[in-house]
Amino acid sequence: MPVIEASYYEKLDNGKVKCTLCPRNCVLNENQKGFCLVRFNKNGKLFTSIYEEITSIAIDPIEKKPLYHFKPGSYILSIGTNGCNLDCKSCQNWQIARQITPREYLPKEAIREVINRYDSIGLCYTYNEPSIWLEYIKDTAPIVKEEGKDVVLVSNGIINSNALKEILPFIDAANIDLKGMDKEYYLKFSAMPNPNVWDNLILLKENGVHVEITKLIVPGFDEFNEKYFERFAKWIAENLGKDTPFHLSRFFPAYKLLNTPPTPLEVMYMAYEVSKEYLEYVYLGNVPDERFNSTYCPNCGALLIKRIGYQVEVLISDNICPNCGYKLNFVF
Ligand code: SF4
Repeated sequence: MPVIEASYYEKLDNGKVKCTLCPRNCVLNENQKGFCLVRFNKNGKLFTSIYEEITSIAIDPIEKKPLYHFKPGSYILSIGTNGCNLDCKSCQNWQIARQITPREYLPKEAIREVINRYDSIGLCYTYNEPSIWLEYIKDTAPIVKEEGKDVVLVSNGIINSNALKEILPFIDAANIDLKGMDKEYYLKFSAMPNPNVWDNLILLKENGVHVEITKLIVPGFDEFNEKYFERFAKWIAENLGKDTPFHLSRFFPAYKLLNTPPTPLEVMYMAYEVSKEYLEYVYLGNVPDERFNSTYCPNCGALLIKRIGYQVEVLISDNICPNCGYKLNFVF
């Protein structure tokens, strides 16, 4: 399986290289791997070990990403590989993101056939962090677009902006995990000293990508007060628009936080109420109340999309509320 020379790096003295794909900007000695585990220095050149290699492939409901306002009720072929440029304390997918596992070969030419084999709206890069898979995305996303299908990213949004700009023209929708609102949070929770997710969210939005945001609420890392959650919602409303869908997700023990209890339900409801003051579409994930997964008109409260688990009943066909005529934010 091909190991190819990576994009985005600089050669330094003494055979070292500096990877410039993400703001971690790892400087690597001969035979050293980057923090993401999948880019390495060999003979003074940077290579990627995951090109055309996948750990996971499935047809998922688009709601699972989660994307609630992009082609609701549809299914999308989803692929992932190894590696991540973060090390989040409660990573759900650490088995593939923070270690190297056996992988299957999925050559770029096969993508055309695979996305047409199933009833899929397109291709989603997900499960691990797709930005570190840039070489494969930039070679396969154009094929998906040639087939008239959609390209979706599920990402932490931390990538140097010149690299993001290279794939932006091919991206239709993205769910971005917004972990915190400052550098300190990213350092503490994700071991990332210089996050640039906020700039990249604006870049995605400015370039016409449909953006939804997920925020996992983690005991011991997030503050449980209204002012704290107000900061997220206000920033999203002011920078991306009040119609940006916002998914608040309840933490359950995982990875390095196995002894941390789940987020109290009352904190989830409080965060929901605060966010609703600024944003039109707020959802609660991992909460045992289906009402918080359905979509209601922000103006009149009419039920627009009913979701029970991944069962989706779409009660609208365009971006206008059938009850009051309010302009909605969906891509059909
Ligand atoms: S993509 Fe990987 S190797 Fe490159 S700077 Fe980021 S963590 Fe380091």
